[in-house]
Amino acid sequence: MRKILIVGGGTAGWMTAALFGKLFRGLYDIEVVESEAIGTVGVGEATIPAIKKYNELIQLDEADFMRRTQGTFKLGIQFVDWLRPGQSYMHGFGVIGQDWEWLRCHHYWLRTHQRGRAEDFAKYSINTAAALENKFVRARADMAESPIGHIAHAFHFDASLYAKYLRSFAEQHGVKRTEGKIVDVGMHDSGDIASVTLEDGRTIDADFFIDCSGFRGLLIEQTMKTGYEDWSHWLPCDRAMAVPCARTRPLTPYTRSTAHEPGWQWRIPLQHRTGNGLVYSSKHIDDGAAEKLLLSNLDGEQLGNPNRLRFTSGKRRKMWNRNCVALGLAAGFLEPLESTSIHLVQSAAIRFVRLFPDSATDQATIDEFNRQCDFEWERVRDFIVLHYWANERPGAFWEYCRTMELPATLQRKIDLWRSNGRIFREDEELFSEESWIQVFLGQGIVPRSYDPLVEIKSDPQIEQFLGNIAATIDRCVQVMPTHDEFVAKFCPAE
Ligand code: FAD
Repeated sequence: MRKILIVGGGTAGWMTAALFGKLFRGLYDIEVVESEAIGTVGVGEATIPAIKKYNELIQLDEADFMRRTQGTFKLGIQFVDWLRPGQSYMHGFGVIGQDWEWLRCHHYWLRTHQRGRAEDFAKYSINTAAALENKFVRARADMAESPIGHIAHAFHFDASLYAKYLRSFAEQHGVKRTEGKIVDVGMHDSGDIASVTLEDGRTIDADFFIDCSGFRGLLIEQTMKTGYEDWSHWLPCDRAMAVPCARTRPLTPYTRSTAHEPGWQWRIPLQHRTGNGLVYSSKHIDDGAAEKLLLSNLDGEQLGNPNRLRFTSGKRRKMWNRNCVALGLAAGFLEPLESTSIHLVQSAAIRFVRLFPDSATDQATIDEFNRQCDFEWERVRDFIVLHYWANERPGAFWEYCRTMELPATLQRKIDLWRSNGRIFREDEELFSEESWIQVFLGQGIVPRSYDPLVEIKSDPQIEQFLGNIAATIDRCVQVMPTHDEFVAKFCPAE
């Protein structure tokens, strides 16, 4: 293993190149081939807090990165009209309340809820409480005793500026960039990839290939015919349309997802504009009507024409096949409802580093990598499917979602939750118990009972415990600056 070729320079290609440049400089030659003529998908602007691990690993300066990508902070996702029109809830990142005598906070809340005396569950999340007031501060390590020490943030950023930023980072760390369109792929007799040939006749050899070529999967699918697991029976949306509009005030520190008749619309606030898009099912609405729906729901002046995208939810049968690993859209697609695709690039790239092969094809390592990817993707899929399935919305699309047969792994989670509010995070599953709890409750699935250990406490004790948490969070939010103020001070755009 001397040389690794990354095919594609979108978010996936440059995230991987920046990581490899940082970690492998001097050990391996890293090269990226990308084609300006083909371009990138141009979307993907909301993230989850795990991205901070990637930033730490490559030692990015957070203020510089946000300044150069017109970034804003994200405390969670607001789901509007998802359960039924007129109802909304927030999936706030981070912890909710605090554990008390072996139990998670939500069990105590469930008892007060049964007694008809519960406050909104959102009051126990510092992230949600701050988001709803448009307030923001970064968590402070010296405030571990305060909810402010537990704020969990992610980012919104301009996707094209992000790829540019990572490109310059990668190039500073020794990654070579080659411009050109790949028109042919050379193979060894063994079935491994040997080289790629560009339109102008140049050939680039490598020992290992990372396919970041986007939906087309130039190496993993078009060349290696790896196969695709289609999940569109669980995630029936198959098209998206994205359009930016002028920024409006205030700068909200959260992504908004609004359910519509045939799908949903995102709203992502950046410093210089707001990103919007509609994700929809082509069986339930045609492109013209979808465009009208999207454009009639913008809250700022439209900037540019809608960018149309088609996709099939699912994943490659193997993310790693012989001497090729697929990352990003080449690996598969889970719709952006919980902003997980960039995370899936990051986690698979880090997984590849941790399982770095001794030789180009080391089957035990390949199998382990694929097993871990499958597990991660399936659990994220289940989480997204839950939002669709648990709905009380009118219309054929939502009726289909409500009555579809669920993946067994999700059904088991729902059954456990429904009886006693039990929820367990399995292995390295991405979403925490808190994330699942908020979506369960937000989508109207309230357990029949709660953990019997709750009975050790009296009603007044529980009400005092919950009341103290809500009051402390409320006091913290009052003293926080607004998100606009924080961004203007921390990372004003260049
Ligand atoms: P692309 O951006 O398509 O890049 C492919 C690269 O391959 C390009 O550089 C192209 O030039 C190159 N290439 C292709 N063929 C050739 C060739 N023959 N020769 C040379 N070069 C070639 N993710 C999130 O985390 N959060 C979100 O909010 C989010 N929103 C999304 C919304 C939508 C509608 C969609 C579709 C995706 C969204 N995603 C989101 C996913 C995110 O956009 C992608 O994960 C991310 O952009 C990675 O894309 P990519 O780099 O794999 O592909």
